[in-house]
Amino acid sequence: MGKKGLLIILSGPSGVGKGTIRQEIMKEPDLGLCYSVSLTTRAPREGEKDGIDYFFVSEEEFERQVGAGNLLEYTRFVKHSYGTPRDYVERLRSEGKNVLLEIEVNGAMQVMRKMKDDPPLSIFILPPSYKELERRIRGRSTECEAVIQERLKQAKAELRLAENYSYRVINDNVGGCVSRIAQIIRQEMGS
Ligand code: 5GP
Repeated sequence: MGKKGLLIILSGPSGVGKGTIRQEIMKEPDLGLCYSVSLTTRAPREGEKDGIDYFFVSEEEFERQVGAGNLLEYTRFVKHSYGTPRDYVERLRSEGKNVLLEIEVNGAMQVMRKMKDDPPLSIFILPPSYKELERRIRGRSTECEAVIQERLKQAKAELRLAENYSYRVINDNVGGCVSRIAQIIRQEMGS
């Protein structure tokens, strides 16, 4: 059997630009990356597609998946549930693919705790400053003030968890951040 693929966790506070970084890093042809599509109970945003951005499911279906033990990790985040399907991740890794999870910090901590014998490569994306993070969260005009406040509070708590990760990378500009992450993955692939 070939070498098992890496499990890579890309995490960081809400609004730090994880989604954009993930999309860009997926374009790097030599990293052998597969994106782990999560389950969520939230409604699709404009342009989001079922099975590509998320598997959009009902609360009942989500609970069923939790009950069946099918999720590697899951969390409640601002009124909705998000979770990573376990089988999909393990199957791809056994095929030698490097599987990328883009998840919030609570789920990332669950994976790190569960996988002590086979530790993931965990990367925390930091904003250039808290002020800048607030500006970015507010810039997403899709949400009402109450949700924004909730996300800011959450982001502050999330920033405190950065030290638990294998690597911390500042997202001062997307290109620079992506190339630093790509470099980290290449280095881990070689070791
Ligand atoms: P959004 O609703 O903006 O797509 O995502 C909200 C947050 O949930 C983001 O921080 C995103 O990274 C995170 N997230 C997406 N999928 C998962 C998942 O499967 N598990 C966990 N723990 N967080 C997730």
